Amino acid sequence: METKTSILDVEAIRKEFPILSREVNGHPLVYLDNGASSQKPKQVIDTISHYYEFENSNIHRGIHTLSQEATTAYEEARLTVQKFINAEHSHEVIFTEGTTESINLIASSFGKKHLSAGDEILISAMEHHSNIVPWQMICEEKGAILKVVPINDKGEFLMNEFENLLSEKTKLVAVNHVSNTLGTINPVTEIIELAHKKGALVLIDGAQAVPHTKVDVQALNADFYAFSAHKMFGPTGVGILYGKEDLLNDLPPYQGGGDMIKTVTFEKTTYNELPHKFEAGTPNIVGGIGIAAAINYINKIGIDKIEAYEQELLAYATEQIKQIEGIRIIGEADKKASVLSFVVEGTHPTDIGTIIDKLGIAIRTGHHCTEPLMDRFNIPGTARASFAFYNTFEEIDIFINALKRAVKMLL
Ligand code: PMP
Repeated sequence: METKTSILDVEAIRKEFPILSREVNGHPLVYLDNGASSQKPKQVIDTISHYYEFENSNIHRGIHTLSQEATTAYEEARLTVQKFINAEHSHEVIFTEGTTESINLIASSFGKKHLSAGDEILISAMEHHSNIVPWQMICEEKGAILKVVPINDKGEFLMNEFENLLSEKTKLVAVNHVSNTLGTINPVTEIIELAHKKGALVLIDGAQAVPHTKVDVQALNADFYAFSAHKMFGPTGVGILYGKEDLLNDLPPYQGGGDMIKTVTFEKTTYNELPHKFEAGTPNIVGGIGIAAAINYINKIGIDKIEAYEQELLAYATEQIKQIEGIRIIGEADKKASVLSFVVEGTHPTDIGTIIDKLGIAIRTGHHCTEPLMDRFNIPGTARASFAFYNTFEEIDIFINALKRAVKMLL
């Protein structure tokens, strides 16, 4: 067994996540499904219950104290997000339901205003369905064309192919920062630079990047950046769309309703300023406050330390899994986040997942909402372990031993 790292005090951290001390099927929980959704520290859980116990009220336009307090907390949360991703202005931070809604918002609003027949949208072969389907929908509506940048067998974005596909027809490029299935960290800075040279805008799906690495939207020069709170130790049902001020100002609203308007008559409605223009209806107030609590928690630990520790976990797990005969890793990019996808020749990933669940180990199996990527590798799905900073080397040993047992049973 590996000696403990000194980067983080993981034992102390684990005590802050109540769920990590529960048992599953008579075994201590080993939670390795962080790519799907992460666990929540007590600080986030307490912030949410404190809001409902003491501050709950609707925000904006309220004259009473509770409403004003809730509004302040919600708008302060926006400032926390702004600082976290280094956006220039807080009104460039739009609260959404999550990554999926953030991408749909841009596909819809950008598509309506800027896409015409023959225009092209570029995505990569390793996108999540939520960064494929919204583009297909708007392309179909507008007669635009969706093109796909291929990847190599290691699961790396092919920059030369991208350059070949980029043209004056390319209106927008949408790629993930980190692949949820392969763990590949994409060269988004270069992708953005090349796209801009051709006059195309870039949306980065950062769902799997924000919990694992420092994201600075200004340094990246991203036009739009989307992520979800629930994958970064915050609540479900809330996420962020970052967009550059002038680009968001230029786009039509996504949904109509309360809060997104300036004035309404039956003849004509005028729209509110950013960020409210894109936040129709009562938002997920506690979600916004919860995401800020999650960010404060990440900041307390330090994203650089999180990244360094998770890289150690990934390296250790990769080395260990390679010792098991019959296992093939899917996704061997040179730069990877803490995601380990694999197949066991001659078995179905679901069988692996089911067997090790009996031992309290949670991994994900299937296509991970990346069916075209599965087709690219000619496999029905993978088993995927995805690590967070509260995972330990001991848990990896438990996982590897369970995997060995499962493989023995199945082969
Ligand atoms: N993109 C990527 C890369 C993801 O991993 C996910 C979630 N699995 C999404 C988008 C969608 O996120 P959400 O379901 O939180 O909207």
